Amino acid sequence: MTDSTNFAQNMPEERAQHLLERLRGNGNDSVAIPGVHVTSRSFADMTTLRIGAAPAGVVVCSSAEAVAQVVSLLDAHKQPLLVVGGGSNLVVGEGDEVSQLIVVLMSAGDGGAGVEKQGAGAEVDADADAEVEVVIDHETGVVRAFAGVEWDRLVAATVEAGLGGLECLSGIPGSVGATPVQNVGAYGAEVAQVLRRVQLFNRASGKLEWVEPSALELGYRYSNLKFTSRAVVTAVEFQLTADGLSVPLRFGELARRLGVDADEAAAGEIRRPAADVRQAVLELRAGKGMVLDASDHDTWSAGSFFTNPIVTGEAARDAVVAAVREKCGEAEAESMPLYPVKGGSASASGGAGGAAGAGAGGGAGAGEPQFKFSAAWLIERAGFAKGWHVPGNDRASLSTKHTLALTNRGSATSEDVVELARAVRAGVHEAFGVVLEPEPIWVGVSID
Ligand SMILES: Cc1cc2nc3c(=O)[nH]c(=O)nc-3n(C[C@H](O)[C@H](O)[C@H](O)COP(=O)(O)OP(=O)(O)OC[C@H]3O[C@@H](n4cnc5c(N)ncnc54)[C@H](O)[C@@H]3O)c2cc1C
Repeated sequence: MTDSTNFAQNMPEERAQHLLERLRGNGNDSVAIPGVHVTSRSFADMTTLRIGAAPAGVVVCSSAEAVAQVVSLLDAHKQPLLVVGGGSNLVVGEGDEVSQLIVVLMSAGDGGAGVEKQGAGAEVDADADAEVEVVIDHETGVVRAFAGVEWDRLVAATVEAGLGGLECLSGIPGSVGATPVQNVGAYGAEVAQVLRRVQLFNRASGKLEWVEPSALELGYRYSNLKFTSRAVVTAVEFQLTADGLSVPLRFGELARRLGVDADEAAAGEIRRPAADVRQAVLELRAGKGMVLDASDHDTWSAGSFFTNPIVTGEAARDAVVAAVREKCGEAEAESMPLYPVKGGSASASGGAGGAAGAGAGGGAGAGEPQFKFSAAWLIERAGFAKGWHVPGNDRASLSTKHTLALTNRGSATSEDVVELARAVRAGVHEAFGVVLEPEPIWVGVSID
């Protein structure tokens, strides 16, 4: 892309407006990019927590090529940008840092579903027509989707096509492209288990490239894309199973719901029809306010707000257990959810299911053993019941259905959410000596 103007040194507002005008196609130096349109929206409108100022502008991109060209242009001018999918893992502030950003919004056509191509041997490896955003090969179980496709639409389409692998991740809000970024997980599964390849726009090289999952260092709610913004995910390929059965059921609550004995499930061999598992997961999630519903403030959240804490070494584990025993008594200390972290990373975890699941993951190295606690359990035992809010401020509260979700009750600002998050974090630390780490990405606001 040629670019003769030099306005990188101008005022940030001027630079952003000039770039947006160019992308709109106005002026002599305009750049007409297919699959791009420029609009105005606020973060309060783009995020599921429904807070945050309006950025300088929003550039909607509906193809990998469009993302590559837009991000190249913005990077060439050192324009701060934020890639946004469904806005379901973001806490955004109201200050200048936010209003100077340009948002690159990943969005599929057809209301987020993406145009589908299905069939046996659907040529997932070939360069599909530009408008095809989801390709499902029934025979091999290989599925490819553009990053802007809505995640749960993809899950539904694969289950309907008779493929197994994504069903435990039903009902998670957001986009396909964000799923490898924090290795989304729920109900004993995580996306790392079914990733085949990920297409990235590499911001250092300025190129689109397919990478193996191992290049992303996937771990518990982590990849090396999270916090770094080094690349934009433009498409994801999954290897699913063509037998229509779920991944092995590993999460006790889900197994029980499906009539499977929890001990049998713990062995990790039991599989059920993917459609039944999807239905059960959606029901369990809805009961916890973990399926988006505009009329229910319990779902005005960023999902689980804190990750399940992992401690290293038996002494650190014993210190937490001793603190629980002292505050809550022997019986609670004995029954507290506590799981050894298996070596490496990318094993399954609880996600929106609440407590950490059997076989919880988390990146244990070859050295000292690691142990994972349930953030929701610790929060409740530290004295924060469902629905709790900071005294005198009920604009933000814990969900009335799930302790781990911090929610906007309708008129919260980022400061209200931060005040609540700090109170919960400080309370858990005081009670048990555990520092909770937030799961979402913070923009223009901080918990510290
Ligand atoms: C009600 C509710 C329930 C939830 N349940 C779960 C759950 O069970 N398990 C779970 O793991 N998560 C859960 N989440 C969190 C969230 O839905 C996931 O993390 C989801 O994958 C975020 O997708 P998104 O498109 O909304 O990302 P956004 O919120 O738009 O972005 C999140 C981060 O990813 C980056 N990003 C987004 N898209 C891309 C891309 N294409 N390339 C590079 N970076 C990108 C953004 O820049 C940002 O840093 C829940 C959230 C809510 C609100």
